[in-house]
Amino acid sequence: METIKVYTAIIGGGASGLMCACVASKTNPDKKIIVIERDNRVGKKILVSGNGRCNLSNLATCIKNYNNSFDDGINFLLEDYPPSKVIDYFSSIGLLTMRDFENRVYPLSKQASAVLSVLRNELKRNKVQELCDTEVIDISKHKGGYKLRCSDKTIIAEKVVIATGGKNNYAQKVVGNTYAVAQSLGHKVTSLSPSLSPVKVKSNVIKSLKGIRAQGSVSAVVNNKPLKSEQGEIQFGADCLSGICVFNLSRILNREKNAKIILKLLPDYSFLEIKEMLNKRISLINNDSVQDIFTGLFHKNIGIALLKESKIDTNKKANELSKAETNALANTVNEWVFETIPSNDFSTAQVTAGGVSCSEINPNTFESKKAKGVYICGEAIDVDGDCGGFNLQFAFSSGMCVGEQL
Ligand SMILES: Cc1cc2nc3c(=O)[nH]c(=O)nc-3n(C[C@H](O)[C@H](O)[C@H](O)COP(=O)(O)OP(=O)(O)OC[C@H]3O[C@@H](n4cnc5c(N)ncnc54)[C@H](O)[C@@H]3O)c2cc1C
Repeated sequence: METIKVYTAIIGGGASGLMCACVASKTNPDKKIIVIERDNRVGKKILVSGNGRCNLSNLATCIKNYNNSFDDGINFLLEDYPPSKVIDYFSSIGLLTMRDFENRVYPLSKQASAVLSVLRNELKRNKVQELCDTEVIDISKHKGGYKLRCSDKTIIAEKVVIATGGKNNYAQKVVGNTYAVAQSLGHKVTSLSPSLSPVKVKSNVIKSLKGIRAQGSVSAVVNNKPLKSEQGEIQFGADCLSGICVFNLSRILNREKNAKIILKLLPDYSFLEIKEMLNKRISLINNDSVQDIFTGLFHKNIGIALLKESKIDTNKKANELSKAETNALANTVNEWVFETIPSNDFSTAQVTAGGVSCSEINPNTFESKKAKGVYICGEAIDVDGDCGGFNLQFAFSSGMCVGEQL
């Protein structure tokens, strides 16, 4: 079996591993660095990110955008490796960026491939070897360094970076336990669940809304306690709700049993204001079908679904509605309640909530507390962020931080 000796072995050719390799190779041009990737090419997830446009950072990044198990959060990283540092670095290797009205940062070309290309070009200039189709199975201590057992070879390295990403392998050919490598060094992995994914709901009336979008606010309620609210565009699926604001609640709702989403289609109106509005609309259309009550307000199918959800016969005329029915309808518009179904489906998730326990990682350097000279960065760690560039910002900044330690 072939044996390769290097100074640094970076396991995982995703956003964090590639950034780490770029920074480390620039600082240490004489030390041999290798990026080991089990898939047939590096950076596949970068290519699909942001719908192929790669929302690589967010200028409004702050601590509340992240969940993590570090005692003090990721304050150090946000202070020392803020979005501006990531953006400046990209600019230094040739990538110009732009920000949108919500502070989301994209390549100026709006092409995710541009992000991957500048990283790979920098690796080429710095003579970093990419070793694809090679899975690292485990790591063990070896003469002051480490031995990496791979599918068909052994790699001996003084320093090792674990940048193996999360459990969600969207767009990737090779799937398997991405945490096995860290676990082989004794690291614990916290409970894992899909995040930034659609949320499955129990509903008999939304099938016909598939693909329809609406503006509103959504709240995650668990055991009757509201835990998180978001406002924006909601997308209906045949059996799920999605859209960025729902994605941001999915971390909670995919885990919890007794949970629901409360959707407010008119979040700026009170129940009484909605009732008054409905009464006015009913008098206006009078003898016409109840289905016309929402014409000019919501998509026609949403109107019909609201009537069905309120147990109103959709063949009625508007002026046939009873007071109780108008109340029920106003109630549904005000708070449309969807019982949610917990999910363990990582195939539609953008990120994994949970990962290598932060209590076993030095928060200032990302060095493993279990193995000196081993660093862990990116989504492999128990850190996950909201939708909007926060996850790539974490992957790039933690990769950069580790690259500077090597
Ligand atoms: C569809 C989609 C869209 C997204 N859009 C955005 C967005 O616009 N903005 C944003 O901020 N975030 C986005 N994300 C999330 C973001 O892409 C990830 O958080 C980020 O890519 C994580 O980078 P990483 O390097 O930590 O992990 P990954 O990118 O997952 O890379 C890890 C790599 O390690 C390899 N690997 C794993 N185990 C081994 C092993 N044992 N041996 C060798 N190789 C191994 C994997 O094959 C993989 O290539 C999106 C995610 C998805 C799925």
